[in-house]
Amino acid sequence: MTDHDHLIAMLNRLKLTALRDQLDSLIDEAGRQDLTIRDALALFCEREIARRDQRRIDISFGLARFPFVRDLAGFEFGAQPSIDKAQVREIATGRFIANGEAVLLLGPPGVGKTHLAVAIGREAIVIGYTVLFTPAMTLVAQLARAHADGRLEERLTHYAKPKLLIVDALGYLPFEPNAAHLFFQLVSRRYEHGAMLVTSNRAVGEWGSVFGDAVVATAILDRLLHHSHVVTIRGDSYRLREKRRSGLLQKTAPGPQSVPA
Ligand code: ADP
Ligand code: MG
Repeated sequence: MTDHDHLIAMLNRLKLTALRDQLDSLIDEAGRQDLTIRDALALFCEREIARRDQRRIDISFGLARFPFVRDLAGFEFGAQPSIDKAQVREIATGRFIANGEAVLLLGPPGVGKTHLAVAIGREAIVIGYTVLFTPAMTLVAQLARAHADGRLEERLTHYAKPKLLIVDALGYLPFEPNAAHLFFQLVSRRYEHGAMLVTSNRAVGEWGSVFGDAVVATAILDRLLHHSHVVTIRGDSYRLREKRRSGLLQKTAPGPQSVPA
């Protein structure tokens, strides 16, 4: 075995894969910069750590099941003057996740609720939190099926696990009877332990009709609003605005043929 092969074998055994893959260029770099052994070692460690961080982020992104790739930098705040940019930035620091609090993003279709939810989820992952994104309807359907199969406990545990659970598009469809109760169980389980971010096109006052049960709705809201950050977006749909710009739509209110959320 050559010295090189021996070194590679040791790096493999230590699972220092970034060092293994970049060995020649790292050694060149250390030589070019005339690094001391201590500084060279620091450089090597930095590269290995960077690779691990990136891999953790990639895996977490996969597990989060975001519907699309969006980030805060890609959000045009100028298009939604009703949004308090400082508040969104504060939320994106992830402090609410550390505190197990709730964030509600409310507003009509197309104003960027899902975009912001994904962007905040992305920041959370980079900081090191686990995130799961789920459309509200999928969540409720999964809980109902698990309930019918006698596996509710298992499902609740699944949804209670990530540090941040994002429930998107609550209220586009009313819940089935019994679903509100299942959702309540989830909210209770996460309450003060895990953070939730909920997006909805319905004002909080309308949630009773979404859940189909005023008592359960009150209990859910009681927990969600207890430690909460509410972002209410009042504005035009970004999608329709783009269409208007390109001349596809008149400046008047959109008709029934408008793009669904
Ligand atoms: P909502 O969830 O409120 O219905 P989305 O977040 O799905 O709206 O936004 C619809 C589309 O418009 C997405 O592709 C989103 O990235 C884009 N979008 C919405 N608002 C903005 C904005 N202010 N800046 C950039 N893109 C936006
Ligand atoms: Mg949406």
